[in-house]
Amino acid sequence: MALAVPPHNDVDVFAHDLGFIAIVEGGALAGFNVVVGGGMGMTHGEPDTFPRTGDVIGFCTPDQAVAVSEAVVTVQRDWGNRAVRKHARLKYTIERHGLPTFVAEVEKRLGFALAPAREFSFESTGDPLGWTEGDNGAWHYTVFVENGRVRDMPGRALRTGLAAIARIHANAPGGALIMTGNQNLVIANVPAAARKAIEALIAEHGLDVPKGGLRGNAMACVALPTCGLALAESERYLPTLVDALQAELDAVGLAEDAITIRMTGCPNGCARPYLAEIGLVGTGPGTYNLYLGGAHDGTRLNKLHRRQIAHDEIVAALRPLFAAYAAERHAGERFADFVIRTGIVAPTNAGNRFHEDLAAGV
Ligand code: SF4
Repeated sequence: MALAVPPHNDVDVFAHDLGFIAIVEGGALAGFNVVVGGGMGMTHGEPDTFPRTGDVIGFCTPDQAVAVSEAVVTVQRDWGNRAVRKHARLKYTIERHGLPTFVAEVEKRLGFALAPAREFSFESTGDPLGWTEGDNGAWHYTVFVENGRVRDMPGRALRTGLAAIARIHANAPGGALIMTGNQNLVIANVPAAARKAIEALIAEHGLDVPKGGLRGNAMACVALPTCGLALAESERYLPTLVDALQAELDAVGLAEDAITIRMTGCPNGCARPYLAEIGLVGTGPGTYNLYLGGAHDGTRLNKLHRRQIAHDEIVAALRPLFAAYAAERHAGERFADFVIRTGIVAPTNAGNRFHEDLAAGV
């Protein structure tokens, strides 16, 4: 379950069984668009399993949100597939019954119909790294934590630095360290008077926002050696791949372009690879399926582009696409939209089309 506040889709609200998109009107919370049936997991070689983006089914007021949640959850409780674990998620319940039937049942249990969904738009799925000012005047600093691993590295003493920050921040009113859905950490509720001290610790320990548009938008699951389901490396390998791909981007003048890249060690999709502009899913030791075309704002799944390729082939596959993107993109066009417009991959506009419309030879 996730809650997003546009224009930030930093929780990937369409990846979850149940989501709420906050609708702010006139500076106040009017309510939420309700999203149902998102999910990432699938199994290689089983096309009746697939990732799915959630559907927006209507709008509810804040005081209706708990009842709406309860209705969605109880329909899944009663209609969900208890026999086949791989089909147990809400997304398959909706596929099996059809969205109109599912929504009608939710509304029957609620005793009222949801209002029509309201307008909204998202800009990205990433975290705004660095300083942001909250509505209440407090400051927040989002620290980039590569693949969620808090440890000291050469030039970036993340663990030591965060411990030093925590020591002075623990006594600040409302002071908190908050983990984000993108594996980063927010130093939250920093009083304006305390910013200088926090800034000094950030600089001293090298916790500044990373350079390059790829690294700050990269995410990997833990995979080996922690996860028993992993088929390939992920957390320990993605930084190496990002280095290689960032060099390719630098070479064609795209150094600071934000492109989402996500990797997992198996198709369960814990780092949400199917919603990345560049998705990599482990198939075996050192090999990955490469997916392209997931929307930068998290509203569209990607599509399989190459199967079971290793490091050099991944870099070689992306090199010409980066060059073409640099030379031929329209103003403001995202990498994922470019590869779709130019026919590199077909768009995946529905989860049940994820395995369809592959290019010849894929
Ligand atoms: S996606 Fe990664 S963390 Fe999730 S089950 Fe697969 S290997 Fe494990």
